[in-house]
Amino acid sequence: MPVDRLLPSSEARELLALVRDIADAELAPVAAVHEREERFPREVFRTLGKAGILGLPYPVDQGGGGQPYEVWLQVLEELGARWASVAVGFSVHALTCFPLAGYGTAEQQERWLPDMLGGELLGAYCLSEADAGSDPNAMRTRAVADGEVWVLDGVKAWVTHGGHADFYTSMVRTSDARSGGITCLLVPADAAGLSADRPEDKMGLTGSATATMRFDGVRVDGDRVMGAVGQGLPIALAALDAGRLGIAAVATGLAQGALDDAVAYAKTRKTFGKAIIDHQGLGFLLADMAAAVQSARTTYLDAARRKDLGRPYAKEASIAKLVATDAAMRVTTDAVQVLGGYGYTRDFPVERYMREAKVMQIFEGTNQIQRMVIARHLATS
Ligand SMILES: Cc1cc2nc3c(=O)[nH]c(=O)nc-3n(C[C@H](O)[C@H](O)[C@H](O)COP(=O)(O)OP(=O)(O)OC[C@H]3O[C@@H](n4cnc5c(N)ncnc54)[C@H](O)[C@@H]3O)c2cc1C
Repeated sequence: MPVDRLLPSSEARELLALVRDIADAELAPVAAVHEREERFPREVFRTLGKAGILGLPYPVDQGGGGQPYEVWLQVLEELGARWASVAVGFSVHALTCFPLAGYGTAEQQERWLPDMLGGELLGAYCLSEADAGSDPNAMRTRAVADGEVWVLDGVKAWVTHGGHADFYTSMVRTSDARSGGITCLLVPADAAGLSADRPEDKMGLTGSATATMRFDGVRVDGDRVMGAVGQGLPIALAALDAGRLGIAAVATGLAQGALDDAVAYAKTRKTFGKAIIDHQGLGFLLADMAAAVQSARTTYLDAARRKDLGRPYAKEASIAKLVATDAAMRVTTDAVQVLGGYGYTRDFPVERYMREAKVMQIFEGTNQIQRMVIARHLATS
C-alpha cells in the first residue's frame, strides 16, 4: 500500500504517483544486486535525471521543476524506500547545485545550471577532509590566486560520487582568517590535476561511491567562484540545512521500507498456531516502529513547510535529521528482530537497511553535531 500522504496539489499527487511507478520499475528490482556488487548506478541517475527528478526543488526559470520542498522531500522518501544509495545521491546532487542556484550570478546560472538541473551532469560536494569533518573550518585544501585563475592543492575526503561526478562543488581555503577564509568553487571533473582514489570499503550504502579526491595544482577560472571570495563557509552551512532535510526524508523512506517488509513478514510467519503479528509483544514492536516512521515524516515536513514559507528552518532541519535518522536506525534494527534468524541473513533486505541506516546518523553533520546546532539555537533564542 502506498503511504497516504497529505500533498498540497493535484500536480504533486500525480508527481508522487509517477515517482513511485518509476522507482518500482527502475530502482527496486536492481537495488540489491548493485549493493552486493558495490556497483555505482550512473545510468539510473541519467534516466531519472532526464525524467526531471534531479532538478525538482529548483525554480522553473533556472531549469528546475519548481516543486516546494514539502513535495521534493516526499519524492526523496519514496526513492529512499526503494534504494537508499540512489536517494542519497539525489539529495547530494541537490546540495551541489545549491551554491550556484542561490549565490551564482545570472551569467553563471545561465551557463551551468540547466545541465546540472536537467540530468546531464551529476555533482559531488567536497567539504570534508580527513582531519576536518565535524569542524569544516579546520580544512587545509587551499586555493591561491594566479592572475584570474585559482590554483587548488589539497585532499578532500568522503566525497559521495567521487570519481563519477561531472563537477565538484568544492570548499577551499583562500585565506587563513578564521572567519571569511573559505571560498566555494565549481570544479569541472576534467580539470587537470583532479583525481579520485579507490572508493572507500564501506559497511553499507555500497551502491554509492565514496572517494577521496586529490587536487594537485588544479587550475580553475575565477568565474567559477560561487558567491563572494571568503563566503564559502556560510554558503556550505546554508546548503547543509537544506541537505539535512534531504537526509531526513531518505532515512524516513528507508524506515518505511523496513516497516513494510516487517509487517508483511509478520502477517505470514506463524508461531504457536498464529501469525506473529497477532502476538501482542510483536504487534507492539511493529506499532512502535510505525509511530517512529510517522513521527520522522511529520518532523521533516514541518521543517520543509517552514522553508517553503521563507521562515528560518535551520533548527528544525537539525531536529528533523536527528529524529528521522535515529528512527531509521531503530526501525531497521527492529525489522531484523521481527524476521528472527531470517532477518540476520542476506536472503532478506532488512539487514542491508540496518547497515544503510547507520551512516545516516553520521553524514551531513553527525547527530551529536545536530544536537549542538539545536542547543545553540536554544541558547541564543
Ligand atoms: C558514506 C559517507 C558519505 C559522505 N559524503 C560526504 C560528501 O559527499 N561530502 C562531504 O564533504 N563529506 C561527506 N561525508 C563526510 C561526513 O560528513 C563526515 O564523516 C562527518 O561530518 C563526520 O566527520 P568525521 O568523520 O571527520 O568525524 P569527527 O568529526 O572526527 O567526529 C568523530 C566523533 O566525534 C563526535 N564529535 C565531533 N565533534 C563533536 C562535538 N563538538 N561535540 C560532540 N561530539 C563531537 C562526532 O559526532 C563523532 O561521533 C561522508 C561520510 C560518509 C561516511
